[in-house]
Amino acid sequence: MPDKYHKELQETVAQVRGLLEDLLQLGVVEVPMGPDPAARPPCRLDERDSSTNCRAETLEEIRADLGNCQRCALSKRRNHIVFGTGNASARLVLVGEAPGRDEDQQGLPFVGEAGRLLERILFVMGFNREDVYICNVQKCRPPKNRDPLAEEIAACVPFLKRQLAALQPQVIVTLGSFAAQTLLDTPQPISGLRGHWQSYAGIAVMPTYHPAFLLRNPAAKREVWEDVKQVMTRLRQGDS
Ligand code: SF4
Repeated sequence: MPDKYHKELQETVAQVRGLLEDLLQLGVVEVPMGPDPAARPPCRLDERDSSTNCRAETLEEIRADLGNCQRCALSKRRNHIVFGTGNASARLVLVGEAPGRDEDQQGLPFVGEAGRLLERILFVMGFNREDVYICNVQKCRPPKNRDPLAEEIAACVPFLKRQLAALQPQVIVTLGSFAAQTLLDTPQPISGLRGHWQSYAGIAVMPTYHPAFLLRNPAAKREVWEDVKQVMTRLRQGDS
């Protein structure tokens, strides 16, 4: 160890020893360390803002609570629950609608043709799939890819909200009308929502088109590129 650091270390040790001797003279025989934050129980959704006696849930705890979920009728025909994948510390979270056939078979979000297009969009943004977190509003595949029913959404959305509370990303990108309308609680069509910053629980939200829509309507890629540029700018601002 260089002499300079050795001297600093000796001084620090001497200061700590002096402090402890002072405390002993005052009759203090133990120093309370305060509760271990990790030992606190996870907050329920309704106490997250107000309680300091609980901590944020982890994704693993939320997945464990979901278990072999039977909370709605979509459980009956699914092969796999598609919870979500990616970086638990991601600054960018992408939220789609619901698993399709490929996702249901593999248990992973966005793994079909639309998923490959999403990966290309992420690549242009400078991200790999592993850098971001990807999930859906609905965790089980609706039969024949029909729209989820109101009771199915009501049963599943709390898990998405818990995931987002655990992730606390800088930006959420919703993919398609269903994800945007559900998360933002609005009936506005995606054509009106996309390209305009919104907010969910204090987190910036950029709605854009779903990659599956882009496969059918390649001309809309131009608008998605405009949305993506806004997201990249916002993420860069967060760096500064
Ligand atoms: S869609 Fe959601 S609420 Fe319904 S069974 Fe699947 S995980 Fe449970």
